[in-house]
Amino acid sequence: MEIVSPHDPEARYSCKPGKAEWVGYKDHQTETCDTGGPNVIVHVTTTPAPEQDIAVLDRIHDALAARDLAPSEHLVDSGYVTPETIHRAATTHGIDLLGPVRVDPRAGEHPGFTKEDFQPNWQDRTLTCPRGATSPPWHPTVADGHKRISVLFPRAACRACEDRLKCTGNTGGRGRQILLMPQHLQEIQTRVRLDQQTDPWRQRYAMRAGCEATVSETVRAHGLRHCRYRGLARTHVQHVLTAAGTNIIRLSECHPPGTAPPRNPRPATPFQRLCRNISTTKPS
Ligand code: SF4
Repeated sequence: MEIVSPHDPEARYSCKPGKAEWVGYKDHQTETCDTGGPNVIVHVTTTPAPEQDIAVLDRIHDALAARDLAPSEHLVDSGYVTPETIHRAATTHGIDLLGPVRVDPRAGEHPGFTKEDFQPNWQDRTLTCPRGATSPPWHPTVADGHKRISVLFPRAACRACEDRLKCTGNTGGRGRQILLMPQHLQEIQTRVRLDQQTDPWRQRYAMRAGCEATVSETVRAHGLRHCRYRGLARTHVQHVLTAAGTNIIRLSECHPPGTAPPRNPRPATPFQRLCRNISTTKPS
């Protein structure tokens, strides 16, 4: 990662294609979302801007667990979610990680069949496709440094298949190849990919929208995206103070039912005052 600012050698460049580009850091906020009370930011992590969200998740969970704040359910955006992180969160801290996993990248290219349409037989190490062809026993492989399972359907079966072009996408008559994850991860991926298309899942996940409001509040009301310090450690202090200030405001505005002080009516806006003046001005 190269130095991009003479003012802060620790600041780094990053971008979200089509959305934003910036020099500096990234702030990861964790907020409560219980009903019936003010929601507060309980954890803040600051990282160099280009660091992937997914690399931070374990640290966040470890820190929450160390303070006995690990949630039973953690709603996150897709940048934090893979079958591996869902599995690790559940087995290490008992956290149900809820967020969308990446859809099958081949689903867009070949809308015939996705991986979820194939039935694995974990005992026999075979996969059965939607047209009923069963693969020979699969073989372990490594892809992008991860353990995977390579399944290759027989050429003869795929050549004779009416859906070959939609399914395999190749014109050379090769059989379809599919990469599976190890069983425990593959089952998570298949389950979440199917779940995330359902209304109950969307309704559960809708609560995460509140987190976007908090990001907007800390950015627009408290200037979170304007670094007041140099260096990662000091910027983290700014992020923590911003979260603390946000919490103080929220808690100070929260009163038990029936004890809230009466609010002063909002002052009229200039437009409202103008309208009143016009309506009270009698024509001569
Ligand atoms: S192309 Fe091969 S894998 Fe795909 S549906 Fe046809 S037989 Fe099955």
